[in-house]
Amino acid sequence: MNFEDYQIVSSTPDELKQMFAEMGVPPFRAAQLFDWIHKKGVLAPAEMTNLPENIKAELARSGALQSVQVGDVFTSVDGTRKLEIMLRDEKTVETVLIPDGAKLTQCISSQVGCSVGCEFCRSGKFGFKRNLTAAEIIGQVLVARDYYNPGEQLTNVVFMGIGEPLHNYDNVLRTYQLLCHPDGLNLSSRKVTISTAGILRGIEKLGRDTDGKAALAISLHAADEATRRRLVTGMKASLAEIIDSLKKYPLPKRRRFTIEYVLVKGVNDSDEDARNLVRLLNPIPVKVNLLPLNPHDLSDMEPPDDVRVAAFQQILVSKGISVFMRKRRGDDIKAACGQLLGKKEES
Ligand code: SAH
Ligand code: SF4
Repeated sequence: MNFEDYQIVSSTPDELKQMFAEMGVPPFRAAQLFDWIHKKGVLAPAEMTNLPENIKAELARSGALQSVQVGDVFTSVDGTRKLEIMLRDEKTVETVLIPDGAKLTQCISSQVGCSVGCEFCRSGKFGFKRNLTAAEIIGQVLVARDYYNPGEQLTNVVFMGIGEPLHNYDNVLRTYQLLCHPDGLNLSSRKVTISTAGILRGIEKLGRDTDGKAALAISLHAADEATRRRLVTGMKASLAEIIDSLKKYPLPKRRRFTIEYVLVKGVNDSDEDARNLVRLLNPIPVKVNLLPLNPHDLSDMEPPDDVRVAAFQQILVSKGISVFMRKRRGDDIKAACGQLLGKKEES
């Protein structure tokens, strides 16, 4: 028996069955192992009481369940926790647990670095290093369970950490499917949000592969092409093409896209920008998340003042658009949107 070649934590029950079949282990063990990892949230082989000794021993020896490990942990005054995630090649990413009433949202990373390189985002400032494997992406959710507060239960997952999820399509899709698996965490598809800067082919594939069920957030940040190019520097797709791809997305009834719009002082925060945004979004069902820019050391850009933010918001609301102001969480521990960066990448 040898688990080393297998991505056990990112395997489906059927794949585990296949793996066990090749090792001469009875197929029902696959469901037991999947249950321990994904439903019970146990990664220590010794605690997997209904598995035979030889399987537990090999799981322990190979370290196959430790796809990632937790490094430093930072806790914000608002209860947000940022976990440094150590990868086997000594690179690091970050994941954030965000409590909000009865909700617990985890923000996960999909890449080391990011090739899109948005002007205001810390995560892309050192370029792209590599894609995370599916085992490393789901691993962030599995290891974070040790950092829930008593009574907390994961309710939402957002792909809004480091990286552009749709540039790592297959591994992100697999993670989405594992998170929603009925024998595992069993999250509803509407509770797992994939956020993209606008990868057209990825949006199209995601629509097809999930029947439009995956909750989609689009980081738009601009309502005219020139401003968009200034802010989202590394993206080829035009705004018109992105809106077109959303029109074609097989969105289920009563569902809406989330549009993320980082408000940057003097760049995209005028009344005219707001009116252009209303016009641009008119043909599609949306809710808009407004995020006043979180300032950080790697960008000169600043957030607008509160009066400007309120005026911008009011224009959208007056035209019937649902607007959510993204609360700034974990700012004191650099866990807020756009502030994440692997530790090693900084040095
Ligand atoms: N790459 C994906 C997902 C990760 S970023 C994407 O861009 O959608 C998650 C969100 O944080 C995006 O909407 C991004 O634009 C936003 N963000 C990045 N830098 C920010 C900053 N400095 N202040 C506020 N939000 C920021
Ligand atoms: Fe990449 Fe998203 Fe940051 Fe842009 S905002 S650099 S796409 S992680």
